[in-house]
Amino acid sequence: MFKIGCHLSISGGYAAMIRQALGIGASVMQFFTRNPRGGSVKPLDPADVAEFNRLAAEHSAGPALAHAPYTMNPAAARPDLRRYALDTMQDDLLRLASIPGSMYNFHPGCHVSQGTEVGIGLISEHLRHLLETASPTIILLETMAGKGSEVGGSFQELAEIISRAGAPSADRVGVCLDTCHIYDGGYDVVNDLDHVLEEFDRIVGLDRLKAVHLNDSKFGYASRKDRHACIGEGKIGLDVITRIINHPKLRDLPFYLETPNDVPGYGREIALLKSLYRD
Ligand code: FE
Ligand code: FE
Ligand code: ZN
Repeated sequence: MFKIGCHLSISGGYAAMIRQALGIGASVMQFFTRNPRGGSVKPLDPADVAEFNRLAAEHSAGPALAHAPYTMNPAAARPDLRRYALDTMQDDLLRLASIPGSMYNFHPGCHVSQGTEVGIGLISEHLRHLLETASPTIILLETMAGKGSEVGGSFQELAEIISRAGAPSADRVGVCLDTCHIYDGGYDVVNDLDHVLEEFDRIVGLDRLKAVHLNDSKFGYASRKDRHACIGEGKIGLDVITRIINHPKLRDLPFYLETPNDVPGYGREIALLKSLYRD
């Protein structure tokens, strides 16, 4: 079954979010765990979460992918900022324990002039602490475009973070592949998708690939700009997106759209992609 969905708002609660997803033909959804700029969060409403879980089971929807606030920087130079990122993400993981099968995705971080080596060290330490949290939720590192001082713009950097965090098993730590980011970061999915996936397998291992952020890219190959485009309106293009969703190594993964869209626009992209997915 094609698992396709998009990023939605959690502001109306979990049940409202999954109803919205189902209403636009989505079977999976992504949401920010809290205001993407960070900050406090209201306590979970057990009835709301129960209704979400009931609807997810009834409609075989999921996995729900929770996205950490992107302003958190596990590689920050200041210890108080690293502490804040860790406290926030640990709290997120504990909350996600009430959503069976959910996954938690975070941006590795920016080394902010400390250098990639130091950044990788700090992020692997962060990941090690996250793994100490009493939550079964699988943690995903997102492939980044490598803009500015972003760490995780190459498969090698992600593999290094995972290995230095003690090489936890693939059901504890995985990777979320963002198609815009990797193309932007210098992986040529347009001309050589097979080779990119072989490289991912060799360096990270395909067993760790758990989710795909399905985005077109406003800018071209290796531009390191990280600007998402709607499906078919960017430099990746509809033919390649069609190859991506049907690729034997990818087609069973959940795909999450993060294209610049409102909810009806997501609905139209989901319908388009369903028509291009080969059963
Ligand atoms: Fe992201
Ligand atoms: Fe993404
Ligand atoms: Zn992005």
